[in-house]
Amino acid sequence: MLDIQEKLSAEEKHYLLLEEKYGAHNYHPLPVVLEKGSGVFVWDVNGKRYYDFLSGYSAINQGHCHPRIIDALKKQADILTLTSRAFHSNLLGEYEKFVTTFFGYEKVLPMNSGVEAVETGIKLCRRWGYMNKGIHENEARIIVCAENFHGRTSTVISFSTDPLSHKDFGPFMPGFDIVPYNDLPALEKALQEKNVAGFLVEPIQGEAGVVVPDPGYLSKAKSLCEKYNVLFIADEIQTGLARTGRMLACDHEEVRPDILLLGKALSGGTMPVSAILADDDIMLNIKAGEHGSTYGGNPLACAVAIESLKVLDEENMMENAEKMGQILRKGIEAMESPFISLVRGKGLLNAIVIKHENPEAAWDLCVELKNNGLLAKPTHGDKIRFAPPLIITEDQIIECLAIIRESLKILER
Ligand code: PLP
Repeated sequence: MLDIQEKLSAEEKHYLLLEEKYGAHNYHPLPVVLEKGSGVFVWDVNGKRYYDFLSGYSAINQGHCHPRIIDALKKQADILTLTSRAFHSNLLGEYEKFVTTFFGYEKVLPMNSGVEAVETGIKLCRRWGYMNKGIHENEARIIVCAENFHGRTSTVISFSTDPLSHKDFGPFMPGFDIVPYNDLPALEKALQEKNVAGFLVEPIQGEAGVVVPDPGYLSKAKSLCEKYNVLFIADEIQTGLARTGRMLACDHEEVRPDILLLGKALSGGTMPVSAILADDDIMLNIKAGEHGSTYGGNPLACAVAIESLKVLDEENMMENAEKMGQILRKGIEAMESPFISLVRGKGLLNAIVIKHENPEAAWDLCVELKNNGLLAKPTHGDKIRFAPPLIITEDQIIECLAIIRESLKILER
């Protein structure tokens, strides 16, 4: 039964009950009902304003309803929204040229949700393993990391180590080897198996609580992949697109993935748009009719994705994420709160780890943050991600630090 707090207005209770009665119970949202967003802010149905410190799990890097992105969406919506890939469109090639030039790859394969990009990356990698590496059919293996999060399809949960994600959803897809994250010797050992085609990795583990690997991990992992002729597949769906202070988190170590997976902020939070980027020797292993999606590469998505990338670049969101991230982390560290055992992150992908005898402390803190005008969500019980839109200003960060400092008092009671 829904735990409806007395503090909620009648209107909020109405919306919560609607979701409770008619929606599947596969999420546990904070008790807030939003109806408007602009830039770094969202408003609830009572007109109360909040800083958004989740940014749709990094889908809203450019800020809510960015005027240029919304304009591109509206303009294209009046002209042509979907052709399917049965026909060509005047925007698909333009987008493909733009996005491949932007990231420096020879080809792109457009999909929709993030997990579809991961699925596509897995298929593409296996196909490369059979065609290029000489692995026997059905024997290709892909190395993944413990505590990974790559989405929710039955293949992708097959290699999740989070019981919540996979328990009672089997049988599972074989062909994955799990190694500890940030452990190069374990990776090298796994890479020696001759049927390994790929290594799938998040440059920073977002859902796990913004786990940043040691400096050099990504570049050494890439070198190991090269040594064993294995594709390095970077899932930058959460870390990419300026979130960590570089266009890609891999850019921090000058690593160029063999297969790059993007999603989320590729549409600035307007619609599901994802992309798989690779060079010809990998991508052209998939031929006509062998993979696709009705909505993948639709004209509306193409128009929106071009504008979303231009906005990130032209409005210097990488630089701002880098600068604001440092101010945010330093500000939290300076609080010297006994309830924060760790602050970690890069750019504006950050998390704090809560230390408290009450296992609900992180949730309680998020409710208090909400009461004080800032929205954030716990992950894995004791971690809270702080990932505002990348357009946040220094004055706003300072205001948010004051909200965080004030809200921490709730844990003293
Ligand atoms: N990969 C990573 C690293 C993610 O963080 C997510 C979502 O949070 C996904 C994949 C799945 O994306 P989607 O929810 O759009 O399917």
